[in-house]
Amino acid sequence: MEDTRIRNLNSFFRQVFGRKIYKVGLWGGFSCPNRDGTLSSNGCTFCNPLSSHPKSFVEGKSITQQLTDGCRYITWRFSVNSFISYFQDYTTTYGDLLELDALYSEALSYPGVVGLSLCTRPDCLPESVLDYLEDLSRRTFLWLEVGVQTSDDGILRDMNRCHTSLDTVNSFRALHERNIFSAAHMIIGYPGSTRETVLADAAFIRNTGTDGVKLQNLHIVRNTTIESRFSADEFELISMDEYINMVILFLEHTEPDVVILRLTGEAPDKLTVAPQWSLHKMTILNEIHGEMKERDTWQGKALGFSKSTIREPLANIRTHWRTD
Ligand code: SF4
Repeated sequence: MEDTRIRNLNSFFRQVFGRKIYKVGLWGGFSCPNRDGTLSSNGCTFCNPLSSHPKSFVEGKSITQQLTDGCRYITWRFSVNSFISYFQDYTTTYGDLLELDALYSEALSYPGVVGLSLCTRPDCLPESVLDYLEDLSRRTFLWLEVGVQTSDDGILRDMNRCHTSLDTVNSFRALHERNIFSAAHMIIGYPGSTRETVLADAAFIRNTGTDGVKLQNLHIVRNTTIESRFSADEFELISMDEYINMVILFLEHTEPDVVILRLTGEAPDKLTVAPQWSLHKMTILNEIHGEMKERDTWQGKALGFSKSTIREPLANIRTHWRTD
């Protein structure tokens, strides 16, 4: 039997859809209030939007063309025929509702697409968008990924996020009141964060009641504010070992019914300044899994959950759509 120590995305998709599902990253030409001057023109200190473009990004391709290329590749490479359209760049609930609807609808109408995943900020879910998303979530599998990054308001200010932890709390409450499936993006290793920050973030995330979590290390990407500060020796990055320890600490304090979407982040090689270890995704994943086995630990262990809980099907999946 497989040694399961975290609830991963594959097992979740198998429970929900009964088969393998792959996400197809799409570029929708979105903007962001932290870049267009509404909140700020500088963006978050760590953000270079080019680093989150889909791998096969070519400007000007329609959503349908991107899906044709992406789905064809996934089917050829992995023999998978079911997909989730994934808008991952900028703030993908920010914009004119009619235009958003047109993009989402095109992304959902492609053959084999069974759902939609959107990335957004906690402060970019106004009532009109939430009402629209609530209706959409009744018709398809919808997953809203919210950029939380940390619960520490001082660090949020330092990141120039231009939102607070209270905005985050309110965004998850609003999503869950509408039965919309959610996930939290978290950054580990930002300057000023410590082991206590990780513990506080894990507790904060538990209180949001999120359905999923994405973890990533801080990586320094070219043409960002944090790159200038890093080059000026204002701080040091954590080592890979420290990152692994912090990830495990976070997982141990995360309930076993939370889906772990990602354990590490990466930017394209040519945009990555540091740390170089962040480019070796498989090594990091192997080290995390190896270390968890060595310590005989698992997701939720520090909260008193047994390892077998991770294998149990989720009792209350926060969706009410049906694909069949
Ligand atoms: S990280 Fe997201 S919220 Fe921050 S500037 Fe980039 S696109 Fe905007």
